[in-house]
Amino acid sequence: MSVSDRVRKGMVEGSWIRKMFEEGAILKHRYGEENIFDLSLGNPVMEPPVEFRRELKKLAEHPLPGMHRYMGNAGYPETRAAVAVQLSLETGIKFTLNDIVMTCGAAGALNVVLKTILNPGDEVIMFAPYFVEYRHYIDNHNGVARVLPTDEQFIPRLNDLEAGIGVKTRAVIINSPNNPTGAVYSEDFVHQLGELLRKKEAQYGTQIFLISDEAYRKIIYDGLEYSSVLPYYTQSIIGTSHSKDLALPGERIGYIAVHPDCSQRDELVDGFIFCNRTLGYVNAPALMQHVVRHLQSVTVSVAEYQQKRDFLYDRLVDMGYSVVKPRGAFYMFPKSPLEDDIAFVAELQQWKVLTVPGRGFGAPGYFRISYCVDDRTLEGSLTGFQKAAQKFNSC
Ligand code: PLP
Repeated sequence: MSVSDRVRKGMVEGSWIRKMFEEGAILKHRYGEENIFDLSLGNPVMEPPVEFRRELKKLAEHPLPGMHRYMGNAGYPETRAAVAVQLSLETGIKFTLNDIVMTCGAAGALNVVLKTILNPGDEVIMFAPYFVEYRHYIDNHNGVARVLPTDEQFIPRLNDLEAGIGVKTRAVIINSPNNPTGAVYSEDFVHQLGELLRKKEAQYGTQIFLISDEAYRKIIYDGLEYSSVLPYYTQSIIGTSHSKDLALPGERIGYIAVHPDCSQRDELVDGFIFCNRTLGYVNAPALMQHVVRHLQSVTVSVAEYQQKRDFLYDRLVDMGYSVVKPRGAFYMFPKSPLEDDIAFVAELQQWKVLTVPGRGFGAPGYFRISYCVDDRTLEGSLTGFQKAAQKFNSC
């Protein structure tokens, strides 16, 4: 047996997106890429903003001495300072470079955070539907995932959270704008969440971290303002990246930001720096740190994503699908017209439309659509959605 029991179990449980990817590859080979409408992956179709190329070109033409060498494991002080300035502007809280650690994407950030704070058996609460990888990240660091449901709008239920927090709860992970639902949490919600966590810390005499996965923070629609958790809870840690807001997922550039008033902040940040190194990331990619230092206020065209959301949402609703309108990110999470979401996704596949069953995200009875694709793919998928809806006209 080549792989461990733990890895085998993880591979089986977390295989839905990979399965869709593999089946998609077979279909594309068989029918031609242009005839398959692949809405299964969160891989942005947009190119990075022009400012990205400009910075890259500048560096290529005028390289900085030693720019490809090792650096301190937290990242370049100048980049961390630039992130701190932007976060201070966005949140009204005074960040400095000492609150920031540059990481290999949001995935790297979340793994470093969990490695740093978890003792074996500590519980981490997350909400279904959730980003699939959370389970693996928590398991990587010997934590125990506790999954709580959300309401009909995919917002966590604070009553359930209140009942779900116990003496072993070490952290709560939230993700707004959300993958896979596109839900965006309101200011009122994050305010109440902060109050609840403080109450629970006092009740148990424990420290509960709020880990805010903000991979989609800047992709938010309808003129909504992002409601940061930071003003409402000092034990907050942000894990995020430029994978989506600058369309750079392959470049693996992200960061951790810890609330400046978090208790034992210095020890925590030292822990992040240590874990960034010992998990083998060592440091975030040097070239990208040089580039994103100048791009903190730049974002891909959110209006373009909003147009795609409007286009698809309006048509799916017309066809009879039941969908909560996403307010951010670039996913939709409609109810499956068939109770069996795997069977429904298979039906869509017959029409060459690739999506992912909701059970892959801890929410059977739904399916996920990723609409960060080109317009041709979105338009091409409509026939399949229509045919599948007609077949199961109960939807
Ligand atoms: N968190 C969420 C909610 C995501 O959707 C993703 C990627 O799709 C990540 C984290 C990981 O992001 P990154 O590619 O920056 O590691």
